[in-house]
Amino acid sequence: MDKRVVLITGGSRGIGEAISCAFAKNGDIVVINYLSNKERADAVVAKIKNSGSEAIAIKADVARQDEVNKMVDDVAERYGRLDILVNNAGMAKGGMLMLLDEKDWDNVIDANLKGVFNCCKAVSRHMISQKKGIIINVSSLAGITGLASQSDYSAAKGGVIAFTKAIAKELAQFGILVNAVAPGAIDTEMIADIPEAVKKKYLDVIPLKRFGRPEEVAGIVKFLASPEASYITGEVIVVSGGLP
Ligand code: NAP
Repeated sequence: MDKRVVLITGGSRGIGEAISCAFAKNGDIVVINYLSNKERADAVVAKIKNSGSEAIAIKADVARQDEVNKMVDDVAERYGRLDILVNNAGMAKGGMLMLLDEKDWDNVIDANLKGVFNCCKAVSRHMISQKKGIIINVSSLAGITGLASQSDYSAAKGGVIAFTKAIAKELAQFGILVNAVAPGAIDTEMIADIPEAVKKKYLDVIPLKRFGRPEEVAGIVKFLASPEASYITGEVIVVSGGLP
């Protein structure tokens, strides 16, 4: 079987949906992980199947190691391989530091950082025995620059970058490439609730004067999984319209 098998966490909407569709367009077999919205995941699967590629959806909370291990083992058993993991699932809550609740902090760290650890650990067993694999982690510009009132999210996404660099060094000997993308403000449901006045402030400081499209992140993820990127590992590519 020549087709690559790609697991995309949070692949059911937003940036994850665009990544799922980009790999499907490439002819890869796409496994769409989601947390709560089965209808959305099924709709992306149907769209991909209608376009002639293969896709399935699997529900799992990336913050739960048992659920992640089962998902990854199910994929490996079904297809006999797992070539690419895209750790895209994430969520933000935030609030001013003084008001930040311990439970909310834990939830944000668990979904955004522990989830990446859980998924990387689970796939590494399969990729090491295959002696090749590609892991791409979706971090955030917030993880590089820090975002006020998003200290939990910034800490998690900064952790994803450090984790990416560390495991890239560790897994290189097994032929596994690990990189990250750090999007700026991308037009998805995640930022839909931001008040218009705040959105306008963002737009004022983005040199390209617009929010990014999910497809513009997906294109970079697809590049990092392509043969053209075979000598890149441990890197972070910022996709932010010039926002420093
Ligand atoms: P989104 O529209 O809110 O979609 C989030 C996706 O993640 C959904 O598919 C959701 O599944 C899934 N998900 C959330 N928590 C999960 C969990 N614990 N386990 C499994 N799946 C989970 O988000 P987005 O804007 O596309 O963002 C995608 C990634 O890019 C995130 O990591 C985000 O932090 C990062 N990012 C986004 C922006 C931005 O401006 N949008 C900027 C920088 C970085 P359900 O719908 O089924 O719950």
